[in-house]
Amino acid sequence: RSGFISIVGRPNVGKSTLLNAIIGQKIAITSPKPQTTRNRILGIKTTEDYQMVFVDTPGIHKPKHELGRLLDQTAQSSIEGMDAVLFMVDAEKGLAEDHVIKLFQGISSPVYLVINKVDLLKSKIQIDKIIISYMNVYPFAGFFPISAKDHTNIDHLIE
Ligand code: GDP
Ligand code: MG
Repeated sequence: RSGFISIVGRPNVGKSTLLNAIIGQKIAITSPKPQTTRNRILGIKTTEDYQMVFVDTPGIHKPKHELGRLLDQTAQSSIEGMDAVLFMVDAEKGLAEDHVIKLFQGISSPVYLVINKVDLLKSKIQIDKIIISYMNVYPFAGFFPISAKDHTNIDHLIE
């Protein structure tokens, strides 16, 4: 079994950190500065049962200039035709991002909500609030609160 999975979301939500956590090697460049990822980087996780091909994308943002537009197109093309899409958000930033969710309208791939950086939250209620606000704007196939940095709940997500 094999499948293609893309990781999409705004700059700095932790996409590259998640990819590194899954693959177990530092292959994607992470940085506190937005837009470190300019290219799609593939990571492949192979076990006895399956092979997962991960696509890291440039962050999706409101296109203000040409480079932004180009990065958005790359993000869009990495959503279509995927076996699964992981839509990643920053738990600290909170509520629904309509701009990004627009990209999901009309695609047939299942989109999973991944709420990252839960290590920064003090209470579980905050996570629930974020989940509810996102589930209200898009029918996500599932949701996973994680910490890519601390490797929390990554096994569950991969499963
Ligand atoms: P990307 O732009 O979405 O690829 O984001 P990066 O993976 O480059 O991460 C952006 C910043 O967020 C870096 O400084 C990471 O160390 C930090 N970061 C990523 N994941 C987590 C997490 O689970 N918890 C915390 N506290 N910081 C994180
Ligand atoms: Mg990145």
